[in-house]
Amino acid sequence: MKIISRKEAKILGLKIYFTGKSCKNGHLCEKWVNDYSCIECRKQYSSKEEKKQYNKNYHIENIKRNNICCKIWYKNNKNKKRQYNREYWRNNREKITRDLGYSREWMKEWRNNTPQGQLWRLCTDTARGLNIGSVPFSKSNLIKYTPDQYKNHLLEKLLMFRTIKEAKTVNYHLDHIVPLSYIAKNIKSKKLQFCVAMDLQNLRLIPAEDNKSKFNRVDFPEVQEMIEYLWEKYDINNRECIDDRH
Ligand SMILES: [Zn+2]
Repeated sequence: MKIISRKEAKILGLKIYFTGKSCKNGHLCEKWVNDYSCIECRKQYSSKEEKKQYNKNYHIENIKRNNICCKIWYKNNKNKKRQYNREYWRNNREKITRDLGYSREWMKEWRNNTPQGQLWRLCTDTARGLNIGSVPFSKSNLIKYTPDQYKNHLLEKLLMFRTIKEAKTVNYHLDHIVPLSYIAKNIKSKKLQFCVAMDLQNLRLIPAEDNKSKFNRVDFPEVQEMIEYLWEKYDINNRECIDDRH
């Protein structure tokens, strides 16, 4: 390898240079001009990232497999497990109630103060409104947006139609523009109902007073527009046969 300084290499437009000295990890090889890093070091770093990704994927796969195994085991050992639980509860009552207290506090904190928690609450409220029952978090892959996207979207809407001062004094409700009752009536698939209801565009914050007066009405122009938008976006007329009786 020919010795060439970084300066010279830069002038010549080369991507790598070679000082003739080894790096702090003992590699005697060229270095990258753009960030001074040793070629060998960077290679190892990126393979570390790959390894991390691999581990992550393996973990996810493993969870799926584990869940299936657990379900089968539980099916075969229902009575044994129940008996065990009952005994465990009897012997550890104090510890359990204390732990539950902790986790309840923690859950409260999580629900109220993190975007993930608030999204979870929104999901369960929406599911309840649609009469779907509970939406386990494993189904959160039905939602196409991240918690932060929801948060930012709603904050944007909030600031858009009121001044900050008013926003602080007025009590706002989170509102599904197309009402859940309409969605539940006009879409058959439960999954699709949930996706449409949770669409980012279908959510806004309105003053609590307005929410009472608008209750579940669909004859507002913005609601009609949103129905059109969402029905087209999710291709509902073609995927679903709408029941005309409603
Ligand atoms: Zn190195």
